[in-house]
Amino acid sequence: MVTADPVRLRAELQTFPPYVPGRAPAEVAGLAPYRLSSNENHLDPLPAVLEAISRPGAAPTRYPDDAAVALRQRIGEVFGVSPDRTIVTTGASELLVAITQITSDIRTEAVYPWPSFEMYPQVTGLAGAKRHAVPLLPDGRHDLEAMARAVTGDTGIVFLCSPNNPTGPVLTHEELTSFLARVPSHVLVALDEAYWEFATDPHTARGIELLDEHPNLVLLRTFSKAHGLAGMRVGYAIAHEDVIAGLLKAVIPFGVTQVSQTAATISLDHHDEVLARARVIADQRDEFADALRAQGWTVPQAQGNFVWLPLGDLSDEFEIAASLQALAVRNLGDGVRISVGPQEGLERVLEVSAAFLRDHPRLAH
Ligand SMILES: *Cc1c(COP(=O)(O)O)cnc(C)c1O
Repeated sequence: MVTADPVRLRAELQTFPPYVPGRAPAEVAGLAPYRLSSNENHLDPLPAVLEAISRPGAAPTRYPDDAAVALRQRIGEVFGVSPDRTIVTTGASELLVAITQITSDIRTEAVYPWPSFEMYPQVTGLAGAKRHAVPLLPDGRHDLEAMARAVTGDTGIVFLCSPNNPTGPVLTHEELTSFLARVPSHVLVALDEAYWEFATDPHTARGIELLDEHPNLVLLRTFSKAHGLAGMRVGYAIAHEDVIAGLLKAVIPFGVTQVSQTAATISLDHHDEVLARARVIADQRDEFADALRAQGWTVPQAQGNFVWLPLGDLSDEFEIAASLQALAVRNLGDGVRISVGPQEGLERVLEVSAAFLRDHPRLAH
């Protein structure tokens, strides 16, 4: 028998881990399970959206509108930009892939904060780019000084994440403005605003205001978080026409189904309500973060729909303690991220966290 050679896959695949989704909660008798591991919205989508997606809509034999005209029109109206400056994709995840595709290859370098969204090392690693994962400051914010210094003549893409997943803080408008002033105008800067609707810090960077002055800025957004439509897989970018034209060549044709386009469009029709719900979750988050701090935890500024506990090498132990109480949290190695969920789930987390601090007093501040 001839021994078969292993299938030849790209060497770059060895340089980064696969994306690991948040786990489902363990089953524990007598306890309602809470999945606080994926930053999903725990409130239902708006009734008008639910109604629209339950009606038999576009014929399944037909392709969806590839140009997503109605949705892009609505995005343009809501945010005061030309629809030519928008693109709609299968979640912001597809955008991350496309942005990397149009900027990066084995000759280029990528700069991103770390810890941050797990897809940044994945997409840039797959492209074969040289990666500069710039450590966050101890308080969970981007080290923009170090990030600006990491930009070289070979940099193809810079990712910023505000609010930062998983640690929580936002970039301030002043920070973003001065960072953009330092980055050469030919380097694309992708500002990932997946959680922007939850940010209540008045100093939060307003990327949209900087687009005219910085054609190298692209904003990434999603319907998965504040709109509560993670299952519909719709994301969008706002950027200069030239960047959009590049992205259009890199995305999958007909990726966003008609049902998903409809759901997203209707959700944007009720944008004020979406923002009001995001505010409800933000208030819950603030209360939860304050309760953790009152127990003695060090919690970075939390501006998304999640809270970060910097547990270091105790992350595994915390994850297990939570799972024994039917709570799924997200263990990212350096810490644990807990999504804002129903109140009962958060109260149970507070019981776990209090007991954990009693067992590990060195964690308390
Ligand atoms: C959730 C998330 C995304 C993308 O989510 P999609 O569901 O693909 O739209 C992008 N960036 C960050 C930081 C996220 O947390």
